[in-house]
Amino acid sequence: MGVLASMKMNERASDFIDDAHLSGLLAGKAPAADQVREIIAKSLEKQPLAVEETAVLLRAEQRELIEEIYAAARQLKRDVYGNRIVLFAPLYIGNDCVNDCGYCGFRCSNRASVRRTLSPEELRRQVEAMVRVGHKRTILVFGEHPRYDAAYIADCVKQVYEVRLGHGEIRRVNINAAPLDVEGYRLVKAAGIGTYQIFMETYHHGAYAQWHPAGTRKGDYLWRLDALSRAMDAGCDDVGIGALFGLADWRFEVLGLVSHALYLQHRHGVGPHTISFPRLRPAAGTDLDSRYAVDDEQFKRLIAILRLSVPYTGLILTAREPAALRREVMAFGVSQIDAGSRIEIGGYTEAGDAQVMEREQFELGDVRSLDRVMRELLDDGYIPSFCTSCYRLGRTGEHFMEFAIPGFIQRLCTPNALTTLEEYLVDYASPATRTAGERLVAAELEKMPEDPGKTQLVERMRRIRETQERDLYL
Ligand code: SAM
Ligand code: SF4
Repeated sequence: MGVLASMKMNERASDFIDDAHLSGLLAGKAPAADQVREIIAKSLEKQPLAVEETAVLLRAEQRELIEEIYAAARQLKRDVYGNRIVLFAPLYIGNDCVNDCGYCGFRCSNRASVRRTLSPEELRRQVEAMVRVGHKRTILVFGEHPRYDAAYIADCVKQVYEVRLGHGEIRRVNINAAPLDVEGYRLVKAAGIGTYQIFMETYHHGAYAQWHPAGTRKGDYLWRLDALSRAMDAGCDDVGIGALFGLADWRFEVLGLVSHALYLQHRHGVGPHTISFPRLRPAAGTDLDSRYAVDDEQFKRLIAILRLSVPYTGLILTAREPAALRREVMAFGVSQIDAGSRIEIGGYTEAGDAQVMEREQFELGDVRSLDRVMRELLDDGYIPSFCTSCYRLGRTGEHFMEFAIPGFIQRLCTPNALTTLEEYLVDYASPATRTAGERLVAAELEKMPEDPGKTQLVERMRRIRETQERDLYL
């Protein structure tokens, strides 16, 4: 495996997941209602929960208490985050892979998979197709292969930033790729990435070994667990963690995610920027065991409990989930979703509306267009946002400052969300979405106090409507 084998582990790498301890926290009878309510109250004070406290919420089984957890998650989302939802779309660069993860259509033993890596020209065309419909944020996705080394990833990032089309461009490029070493992350960071995202898949050592064969790079649990610490050591201070739900007990995975978030906070002084919680989907060439399948009710619970446990971390809900469920669980504290996503290599220009299983990693649940998703969000009273301001102004790492600095959201986030929405409405929206958007913008302006901030915002939106000026942010 050449390049892969020569990457260096960090001497400080530590395995902070104790399976027996976490499983022990989940055992035993359901907690008393008072104990659950006390923990919910702590969370509503915006204090992050300990792993032990999260376990208490996970063990609550009474319907009444579960409803209280949902209500608290809704309230925290409303009070802390407001009604913004950030939108992005993934861009699959290449599906060569040396690993053999049992659940993934890209696994090396899947001979039916059509292997492909975008050429620079194809990459440009994919980005143009995304920009043409209004995307501003993307995450580049790669299999794990010596050809996708740090220099290659950095180069792809630069190519994406170079694409300009009309008023559009991609303003934030995130990465979902295999773990690198510190030196590799430095290279990728220097290319101007936003978040580096790596999912642990499962935090449970036994399940991890079962799904990721020994002898493969991904079979090394600690190499992966420590991956985002190496990224942070290299200066990538926006990192995204995640677990692939369906490989082990969903409650164990929630404890794993919360342990990881607390570990990063403790070791690096900054927690993860985002948490993802993809559910396992059918994939070509895989035979999925449904023992740990997470049903919709459990899925809602895990999102609500994550919201309460890590109040300052963004939660990402992907298009793996069907549209109706996405709409329902959004209210529990999701802050980012992808929309109009195509995950076949070349899918933004070639696939049409059909999904081609042999060419994609797994099957998507929501393949509606960006415009359609935008309209639904607007009709539901959300402000869809393409804002990329914080990371471009160096406000990275300490995600919690959005909430800790008084007035940050009102002064910066909401105006930035509205100006990026205005750009979308003027440049890309269908007539119906534009009407829905203008209605929402008017309602949001109505809520704002008459002050210089509002005057400036109204003026910026006018410039977007009446001139060629774009990308106005605070
Ligand atoms: N190859 C790199 C890795 O494994 O980290 C990067 C990206 S991989 C293409 C992106 C993520 O897709 C994986 O981390 C995994 O969680 C998820 N994934 C793989 N197979 C899936 C499936 N059948 N259903 C849902 N998500 C899946
Ligand atoms: Fe390769 Fe990633 Fe799929 Fe595993 S999840 S087979 S590493 S692309």
